[in-house]
Amino acid sequence: MSEHVLPEPVVRIEEVRELARDLVVIPNRRVQLVPNIGVIGGTHSVLVVETGMGPRNAETVLGFAAEYAAGRRLYLTTTHFHPEHAFGAQVFAGQATFLVNRAQAEDLAAKGAAYLDMFRGLGEPVARQLEGVEIATPDVVYDDAYDLDLGGRVVRLLATGRAHSRGDQVITVPDAGVMFTGDLVEAGQFAIFPWFPPHDTDVSGTRWISVMRRLAGASPRVVVPGHGDVGGPQLLADVRDYLELLRDETWARRDSAVGEQTIVEEVRAVMIERHPEWAGREWIEKGVGCLCAEHPA
Ligand SMILES: [Zn+2]
Repeated sequence: MSEHVLPEPVVRIEEVRELARDLVVIPNRRVQLVPNIGVIGGTHSVLVVETGMGPRNAETVLGFAAEYAAGRRLYLTTTHFHPEHAFGAQVFAGQATFLVNRAQAEDLAAKGAAYLDMFRGLGEPVARQLEGVEIATPDVVYDDAYDLDLGGRVVRLLATGRAHSRGDQVITVPDAGVMFTGDLVEAGQFAIFPWFPPHDTDVSGTRWISVMRRLAGASPRVVVPGHGDVGGPQLLADVRDYLELLRDETWARRDSAVGEQTIVEEVRAVMIERHPEWAGREWIEKGVGCLCAEHPA
């Protein structure tokens, strides 16, 4: 969403990292619009987390996963419906069982086409990866939580409720202490607020804070963020602290009836001073807009 032309959002099978036995991450190498992708194995099945953006990236991911699975059954899930996470699912049809939470399936059906249009406007490199995208329909949909048995390993899929999107989902691997958060957590950058009124206002800063408190309660050993470097539980605390500060600084100014543009400028300065090394400064303004709308009148 930045002003400059984004680099080619291409998934590369490089620096693949084993986080635990039979559990690897294809890291995003800090490339924008490339997600961290997980491949989690059990004795009879393998779960892929995220597709990458568009059919060509998804073919890369499927190729890696099929080789990794070596004959084991494939499942696919995505953390939420945004294009770089889910807009390659069509490639897995007939090869993997596509399983997501109901709210995410509804997001995909209701807003997938509009996001496809919006992302095509982000520049030629992004549009190229989106060529040929068809919005996929999940094979299996669950409501709140789903325990997926991969054989000797049960992976827990959990719908968190509305936060970064309406249909966010986290995937935890309890025997390995690993949690995939999708865009509920980013490492080394400001939280992504897809606040695009009037088209999409589903992101909720206040609910996001509650979700982060609950996720911290699960005490994961390893946290795989949507984008950025894999880390420990501190990543969860960092996001919660940032969101709480963003809320407090925004609401304090809202209480004193400061205009929204002034709030944006002042809060932005505070946040950059707090996290000068973080990327994605354009998301601060979106976060302020969201939290202004959530200010208790
Ligand atoms: Zn997202």
